[in-house]
Amino acid sequence: QFQRNQPLPHGRVLTVAGSDSGGGAGIQADLKAITLLGSYGSSVLTALTAQNTLGVTAIHAPPIDFVQQQLDAVLCDIGTDIIKTGMLYSAEIIATVAERFRSYGALCVIDPVMIAKGGSALLQQEAIDTFIRDLLPQAYLLTPNIPEAETLTGLSIATVSDMEQAAKALQTMGARNVLIKGGHLEGDPIDLLQYGTTTITLPGKRLDTPHTHGTGCTTASVIATLLAQGVSLPQAVTQAKQFITNAIADAPHIGHGHGPVNHYT
Ligand code: PLP
Repeated sequence: QFQRNQPLPHGRVLTVAGSDSGGGAGIQADLKAITLLGSYGSSVLTALTAQNTLGVTAIHAPPIDFVQQQLDAVLCDIGTDIIKTGMLYSAEIIATVAERFRSYGALCVIDPVMIAKGGSALLQQEAIDTFIRDLLPQAYLLTPNIPEAETLTGLSIATVSDMEQAAKALQTMGARNVLIKGGHLEGDPIDLLQYGTTTITLPGKRLDTPHTHGTGCTTASVIATLLAQGVSLPQAVTQAKQFITNAIADAPHIGHGHGPVNHYT
């Protein structure tokens, strides 16, 4: 017989993101990470992807009113300690959620998801200006990878010192703190956290594996969950890096392409 031996959830995290039918990224990865770390996860779906480890074959966005209704339903009853965003897809969705976040006032961890590992656009090109204007200034933490940081700042990033310059530029654009993930650097990856005026580098070892699907979503969700539990930002980022490194190393080798990381880390 099943026996519950976990404590009750501590901290609430709302993820506003897209669905990945393959279960490796998006809302599915977010809810797994939030649950495993012991918090309560709620979700607002911005778009549905038909997807597996080989790629995205279709995207369906619900009517904008329905996105708004999901947000209202969660926030007026359950509430949340932290909001985490992932795939937002269109300018219309960004403008709608940004307005509601502003009136609700929770800390936001914003992962500026733009392109899936297989190359499909998860954010429409014309939505980038709306993202910069409406959402980026609400980020308590913005978590771009290097191509996303380049698109948002217009800078080109090849070194850790370029990463620091881009992170500071993103703060000037309105983000309170910025984590630039260095997986796209040559050689071993180094992440850079710009925490207020303090720059913290987090070196890592490159793991030679195609099974990295969902790393961005999982990292942002782990950080959001630890923040909801009262952990400081530098500590949350350090723990998330350990979590994702282990999750990549222990990937379960599911599917025939870019498989998911191990969420049971
Ligand atoms: N959100 C959704 C719905 C996705 O399908 C994907 C990738 O395919 C992502 C986010 C980003 O995934 P990753 O964490 O691998 O950057």
